[in-house]
Amino acid sequence: MSNRDYYETLGVGRNASDDEIKAAFRKLARQYHPDVNKEPGAEEKFKEINEAYGVLSDNEKRARYDRFGKEGLGNTGGFRDYTVDFGDIFEELFGQFGFSSGGRASRRSPRRGRDLQMQVTLTFEEAVFGVEKEIEFQREETCSRCSGSGAEPGTSPVRCSTCNGQGEVRQVRQTFLGQMVQTTTCPVCNGRGETISSPCRSCRGGGLELKKVTKKVQIPAGVDRGTQIRLSGEGGPGIYGGPHGNVFLVLNVKPHQFFKRRENDILLNLDINVAQAVLGAEIEVPTLDGEEKLKIPAGTQPGKVFVMKGKGVPYLRRKDRGDQLVIVNVAIPTKLTREQRELFEKLAESLGTTVKPQEKGFLDWLNETLGG
Ligand SMILES: [Zn+2]
Ligand SMILES: [Zn+2]
Repeated sequence: MSNRDYYETLGVGRNASDDEIKAAFRKLARQYHPDVNKEPGAEEKFKEINEAYGVLSDNEKRARYDRFGKEGLGNTGGFRDYTVDFGDIFEELFGQFGFSSGGRASRRSPRRGRDLQMQVTLTFEEAVFGVEKEIEFQREETCSRCSGSGAEPGTSPVRCSTCNGQGEVRQVRQTFLGQMVQTTTCPVCNGRGETISSPCRSCRGGGLELKKVTKKVQIPAGVDRGTQIRLSGEGGPGIYGGPHGNVFLVLNVKPHQFFKRRENDILLNLDINVAQAVLGAEIEVPTLDGEEKLKIPAGTQPGKVFVMKGKGVPYLRRKDRGDQLVIVNVAIPTKLTREQRELFEKLAESLGTTVKPQEKGFLDWLNETLGG
């Protein structure tokens, strides 16, 4: 047995609170646990830490120790005679090393139900303007045959004789640290405190059944691929009075034949003919709201972008909308009628044969206009 001061061993002051002592113990125990730390002396150190914690975590022993030192603990002062209930600390420390069987966390504390996630595919227009969708999914619900008790109707669960209805059992274990009491979830009733002699035929005693659920969901305007919609409390049922889980709808959006989306703007590539580009024209352009007139001024160059204000996608939870950007391409005809051919030949004569190098290319243009 070491003669070091217990407070010193844990590295805390004499006025340390219970929480501080606990925290210091956890930290050190993790560091020196022989399963983790193979250095010589680690095991000895671990025993010291445990001994110190065994005394300082017990108010009565701590008081005696404060007044009389180790002698005050009497000749039973050795660690081996303590019965220390490590409880949650044990769970936390050793759960990860695999030699705790359950522990306090799995007792009858309320837990939130399972979250469910599902993908919902929308058309381009549904994502833009919103839609009411009927969503179908399966979730666990309280078994209707046994009302969740797990017992076949007409029978009832009986108190578990192993844990006497407590849901947990205390095990006294002899370890190299001495005697320890560990509290674990009752293995017979899994913490319920009850056992079922004739399990419900529908849920086989689990108290839950899978049910198909149909929900109407309002998808707001302006959602996009990857948007998540949470249906609060529509997930699996909580355990021991805990709240229901949630359902998350992850949206997928089908591409559109013409429209491309850049956040809340719509991009549309549009072919106009040479005459329209040269002379100007008023044309009909498809938009999300149907055909709309667009004025093409005379002398429009390929790559010119026209902005149709407010013809884009609505912003989520806002009244306004993005724009539609019409990127104009001048389509060069590849098949000409005889008459068109003659007209072009006349035009060729009139325009002459001079060519001029470009200072700015088409791609520069596009980059500038669309901002990369
Ligand atoms: Zn049932
Ligand atoms: Zn039990």
